[in-house]
Amino acid sequence: MTRILLAAGFAVLLFAAGANSVVKELAPGVWVRMGDRDRNQPANCGWVIFKDFVLVIDANFPWGAREILPEIKKTTNKPIRFVFNTHYHGDHAYGSSVFADEGAQLVCSQDCAQESRTKGQAGWDKNTATGDYSLKPYRLVHPAIVFGTEMAFDDGEHRVELRKAGPGHSKGDAVAWLPKERILFTGDLCVNWTSGNNVADADADHDNWIRTLDKMAQANPSTVVVGHGDLGGVPELRKQKEYLSDMLRVVREGIRAGKSGEEIANAADLTSHKIGTDPARNKASILAVHRKLTAK
Ligand SMILES: [Zn+2]
Repeated sequence: MTRILLAAGFAVLLFAAGANSVVKELAPGVWVRMGDRDRNQPANCGWVIFKDFVLVIDANFPWGAREILPEIKKTTNKPIRFVFNTHYHGDHAYGSSVFADEGAQLVCSQDCAQESRTKGQAGWDKNTATGDYSLKPYRLVHPAIVFGTEMAFDDGEHRVELRKAGPGHSKGDAVAWLPKERILFTGDLCVNWTSGNNVADADADHDNWIRTLDKMAQANPSTVVVGHGDLGGVPELRKQKEYLSDMLRVVREGIRAGKSGEEIANAADLTSHKIGTDPARNKASILAVHRKLTAK
């Protein structure tokens, strides 16, 4: 009988995964829904089930959030009270209104909220996509609960610490750290796919980004939920650092040698990095870093 019940429980878990997405329980009450790049829902999103409420970690695009919502409801009937955005970029934050419509409050760092109201709003307003990936049916909600350097949710059962980590990938980057389970949600400070990073945010700080990766590795997480790609651990934080460090080194050496951004990008080869096997994306990143480092 026990065996049958166990088998039934496992089946429920598999059903929660849905046809096109993968949902995993990382620890009791701590879930992640892996990003689905083929359907333009690329960000990994998590949720933590507290005694009385649910905290969502990153909202995805609105069409992604609409699919994540029923997946959350399969795991709990507790209300979704909070959505934490690791940063303001659309693939992580634009779906927040889907959860706000369920009664959730949006939380992020003070700098992230300011970026949401400026760059985030501007990106939303100029979006002209139509069809499945149109933003027109949705609205943009800005975070109303903000923190300077740190805040925590703690009900004695679960503790989630939100820690400001930027400027790095953006100005207001923050991570979610679960000290009991040693699970770290990094947002886009770390990725684990072959397409590299978006390094082109106007307020990105690549040197500080590298220092932040060191600090995160020192915390020694057992699981790292990266912004995009497979789950990882400390090795993925190190690989991310190596890729970015190599990129910065190549650009700085090129600038010292009097080369143009185009010349630097064409001569560089970052494809030995697992994160950077796509030459076209590496080139775009190198040009973005060059622009940043040579801006007056
Ligand atoms: Zn991002």
